[in-house]
Amino acid sequence: MKKFFLGLVAVVATCASGLAVDGAAAPTRVVVLGTGNPAADPDRWGPAVAVVVNDRAYLIDCGPGVVRRAAAAEKNGIAALKAKELKIVFITHLHSDHTLGYPDLIFSPWVLGRKEALEAYGPAGLKSMTSHIEKAWKEDVKVRRRGLEQANATGYKVNVHKIRAGVVYRDANVTVTAFPVKHGTWKEAYGYKFETRDRKIVISGDTAPTDEVVKACDGCDVLLHEAFNPHGEELKDEHWKEYFRTFHTSPAELGEIARRARPKLLVVYHQSLEKLPEEDLVEQIKKEYAGEWVSARDLGVY
Ligand SMILES: [Zn+2]
Ligand SMILES: [Zn+2]
Repeated sequence: MKKFFLGLVAVVATCASGLAVDGAAAPTRVVVLGTGNPAADPDRWGPAVAVVVNDRAYLIDCGPGVVRRAAAAEKNGIAALKAKELKIVFITHLHSDHTLGYPDLIFSPWVLGRKEALEAYGPAGLKSMTSHIEKAWKEDVKVRRRGLEQANATGYKVNVHKIRAGVVYRDANVTVTAFPVKHGTWKEAYGYKFETRDRKIVISGDTAPTDEVVKACDGCDVLLHEAFNPHGEELKDEHWKEYFRTFHTSPAELGEIARRARPKLLVVYHQSLEKLPEEDLVEQIKKEYAGEWVSARDLGVY
C-alpha cells in the first residue's frame, strides 16, 4: 500500500515540475506542512498548508508546529518557507487545532528577523483572538525590543483582515477567494481558492459535504479535502455520529464531491483516522473515487 502511494506522489511531483508556462517562472506548488487534527499524532502535525508561488509562501491555517514544519520544508529545498519569509496567512476557521500555531507564526518569524507585520486573513473573531495573544506576550515583546536582543519594532505586529465570501486578496502572484463551508455549529468557516498564472488550487478547510467546494473547484488542478474514517470506535456513539455527520466528510461523501468537482488531483488531508491505520481510510476512499488522488503526508509537495 505504502509503495503505491509513494509511486503516486512521485508521478505527481514529476507532473508538477513540468507545469511552467513559459519556463521563466517556477510552477505553483502546494506544500502540506501538517495533515493532522487534534489527535496528538507525532507523525501528523497541526493543519497548515502553503501555496508557494514565485518564491512567496501563502499559508492556510496555522496548526501546532507550523513554523518548524515550514523550516522542515525549507530544508527540503523550498526557500520561500524560511521562517522570516512567513508573512501572510489565511485562516479557515477558529478551531484550536487550526490556530494553536498562530502565536508561533506571529512571534517566531519576528525573533528570527522578519521586519514586516504578519498579514492575517480570517473570519470574525480573529481580531479578538489576535489582541488576546498580543496582550499575553506583551512582556516578551518588551524584553526582546528594549533588552539586549534589540529585536525590530515592527515584525511582531499583525494586520488582521476580516473576510467574507468573495475575493479577499490579490497580488501579482495570486487571487484568493474565500467561500463558505458547513462546519457544524461554527457560525463562520471558509474554504479558499488560489488562482495563480499556472494553477487553480482549492482547499476545503473543515467541512461536511458542500456544493461550495464543487463550485470553487470546477475542474481545478488540486483539490485539498478533509475526510474522516466512519469505522472508528467513537462513531458507535450517537453524539459522535451526529458530530461527524455535521462537521466533517465521509469517504462516500468525499467520492461524490470529488466526482462532481473534477479536480486533476485530489489531495486528502486533515484525515481523522479515528485510531485506525491510514490504509483503512485509504481503502474506503479507493472504493468511492476512481480519479487521481493521494492521501497526504506531512511535508508532501503537490
Ligand atoms: Zn480541524
Ligand atoms: Zn474544525
